[in-house]
Amino acid sequence: MKKDSTFYQAKFEYYRSINMWLVIVISLSSLSYTVSDWYLFGRINLVTVPARTAILIPFAIFMIVNAKVNDYRIIVPLSYLVGHSVMWCTIGACVYLPDLTFASDGFIIIMAIFILLGFAAPCKWGIVLTGLIFVDIAIANTFLHYPEFAMMLILGIPFYVGICMIDWAIERTYLSQYEAKQQLEENAYHDQLTGIYNRNIMDSIIDEKKCFRCFGGKNLCVQLMDIDLFKHVNDTYGHEGGDVVLKEIVKLAVSQTTDVPNYMIRWGGEEFLLITQESPAMAVNRAEKIRRIIETQARSVCPVTVSIGVTIYEGGDYNHAVQKADQALYIAKNSGRNQVYVEESMQRKI
Ligand code: GH3
Ligand code: MG
Ligand code: MG
Repeated sequence: MKKDSTFYQAKFEYYRSINMWLVIVISLSSLSYTVSDWYLFGRINLVTVPARTAILIPFAIFMIVNAKVNDYRIIVPLSYLVGHSVMWCTIGACVYLPDLTFASDGFIIIMAIFILLGFAAPCKWGIVLTGLIFVDIAIANTFLHYPEFAMMLILGIPFYVGICMIDWAIERTYLSQYEAKQQLEENAYHDQLTGIYNRNIMDSIIDEKKCFRCFGGKNLCVQLMDIDLFKHVNDTYGHEGGDVVLKEIVKLAVSQTTDVPNYMIRWGGEEFLLITQESPAMAVNRAEKIRRIIETQARSVCPVTVSIGVTIYEGGDYNHAVQKADQALYIAKNSGRNQVYVEESMQRKI
């Protein structure tokens, strides 16, 4: 499966709270290092406090943006910025510390936080953004001259490789879960036989008042299509023959809806609901095209025809529009089948 921005956004949202709590924890830890500074000084000394408290600036920026934005392309780099800020606050404090022998321990502790930052990030971003910690210490070493610089690299590089591997493993684990979830959603909302939506999709296109909210709920037309004398197809060619006809009818109908925002839903056995966003005249024209293409091209098992009832959605409960389309379909059936019937209120609008 292709890992695209939808996948990375889903991964981010899944690990989002870990990401936020990590930023909180590392910022508080960074502040608390003032105490380890005092231990090194052997007394309370405020000289490192500005560097230690500077972490509050990136921390506050992160918390404000994180509360308003839900885009991994913004929050992930920002969380790494806080991680690197912890590094630089520590480096700033190190300028004043009398003893840098513990710098390598501190470095490994800080590196550990980058493991968790990688959970919410695309793995390849994590590899680059975590790798920048070596740039941080290389720059810092030019003026701090760490006594343990070689040791920091010897311990740090294998740890960095380990971080990348863990983050890669997390991404793989999430990918298998994501694929399973996608498959479940696909099965839940799609009809297995024809591949179009099933009735469950209604939950996601109506609001709590049962009004259509798809395509803004405006300029919607509703068509109900039913295969004519389908029982006869099943009786003559068997259920499997009937299934072939169902797939063929759907394919032909879908081919006439590619130029319009729409939902094609298998409403019942051989009944289909089509919701389109277009003018009433265009919807009637489309229904007629669907009817005609089926009449002329549906031949795989035997010639079949459909009847269609068309109406407009005028707001309110969607069931009302479906009922009107059903009544129109009933009239089309009673008038001899293989025809489109336009419901009265729609007729006045054409
Ligand atoms: P009408 O023109 O009045 O619609 O006549 P009809 O024979 O099509 O009548 P009706 O719409 O009531 O027929 C529905 C038939 O569709 C009955 C049922 O066996 C068949 N059917 C429903 N679902 C499926 C399916 O998934 N596969 C097959 N092969 N047949 C199905
Ligand atoms: Mg029928
Ligand atoms: Mg029917």
